[in-house]
Amino acid sequence: MLDAPVTLATIETYLNDRNGRRSSLSFPPALENLYAEQMKSYRLKVMERGILPAVVVYNLFLIADYLLLPETFFLSASVHLFIVTPLVLLVGLLYPRIEKQWAREAAATIIPIAMVAQIMFIYLLNRWVTIDHLRGDAADHYQYLAIMVMIYMNVNQRFGFRLAVVSTLALTAVYLGALLSVESTFDTKFIGIAMMVSGGYLSLIANHRMEQDVRFNFLRGLKDRLLREDAEEVSLRDALTGLANRRELDRRAEALWRKAEASSASVAVVMIDIDYFKPFNDRYGHVAGDNCLKRVAAAIASQLRNDDDLAVRFGGEEFLVLLPRTDLSDAVRVAERVRRQVENLAIPNEANHAKGIVTASLGVTSGPTTLHSFEELLASADGALYAAKRNGRNQVWPPFVSKSGDVTPIGPVFKTTGSTRSG
Ligand code: GH3
Ligand code: MG
Ligand code: MG
Repeated sequence: MLDAPVTLATIETYLNDRNGRRSSLSFPPALENLYAEQMKSYRLKVMERGILPAVVVYNLFLIADYLLLPETFFLSASVHLFIVTPLVLLVGLLYPRIEKQWAREAAATIIPIAMVAQIMFIYLLNRWVTIDHLRGDAADHYQYLAIMVMIYMNVNQRFGFRLAVVSTLALTAVYLGALLSVESTFDTKFIGIAMMVSGGYLSLIANHRMEQDVRFNFLRGLKDRLLREDAEEVSLRDALTGLANRRELDRRAEALWRKAEASSASVAVVMIDIDYFKPFNDRYGHVAGDNCLKRVAAAIASQLRNDDDLAVRFGGEEFLVLLPRTDLSDAVRVAERVRRQVENLAIPNEANHAKGIVTASLGVTSGPTTLHSFEELLASADGALYAAKRNGRNQVWPPFVSKSGDVTPIGPVFKTTGSTRSG
């Protein structure tokens, strides 16, 4: 399940935001944490898949070096192959190993910054060593490669928007610093600055839109998941009492039975039926009947101690408790606690002549030692419940089981009343 503060309502607010005026790139903390957690694996994949193509494309830039800056080609090739390429690969290698998200992303900005620094360094150097550097030749086109790197960073590498803004500013600073320190024509500088600024602006817009989409899809996925979990939860619960329903019992029982058979661990079942409930309804009305069912259900649930014990509303006023890894004598003890707890509710029931309050009869059984299926286990518990009813109600059957399996009644021996269990 999710952190408590992440609710459908929170998700709806942010989803609607996107359709409305404001498109938020940050969520409240619990939601943001969940987003960051999900983004981690996504970002790892982006990095894992992107690093080699980036290195290849970057080294193809050497064609531009060869054609535009032949004077410094060998130096440029050395910087490419022996400094920037190993650095990029090293960052790619370390990236998944950096724990803190901000540190991981900050480390990744080294890649475009190193590339732009290389481009501008070689451009600068070339302008210095080339005698006739004001010839207005094709060499001045070389520095546009830096703009390609920036677009790659904002569109492919896709940092979160805030980091993208910061690193775009950093790249622009490196670029402008170098460009303005070169003696070149006004046109070259003007076009360079104009392209860097417009390229930065447009690629940041693209980055912003993409992050919005990723966040929007994240919210939609989360909403679907919550709705699915809710629906599943509802479909496995009894609406009146909040206990598990038959569907949940079937689901749990099948897995449990298979495990119990495989490991020969014991699984016990307690079947519970409220005594004289039909006359209770007739006398106090259905609303009171429903309230009584809720209170009995809560009383049953309150007596379960292990997380995997399951209280089920089995039918109208019949309940069932499933006790994994529990033998018969322990299950009888649980049943006796439940019986007492129901009695302690002291809900008046005039139809129960012996006690004057609502009581329950309980049948206990355990398997799989001599039984072949979970249905047989249920039938056996039902038989035990029938015996409890026949023996006078408000009791557990079998009444006491020693650890060795002997069945001996404890407490008052009930007289058989002659009435039989009817439901
Ligand atoms: P016994 O002691 O032998 O169990 O007698 P009983 O009157 O309890 O008989 P039975 O177990 O057949 O009772 C079933 C009654 O439970 C029938 C119906 O009036 C009542 N009942 C079943 N489901 C509901 C429910 O959802 N709400 C209410 N109020 N009553 C229900
Ligand atoms: Mg009953
Ligand atoms: Mg019944």
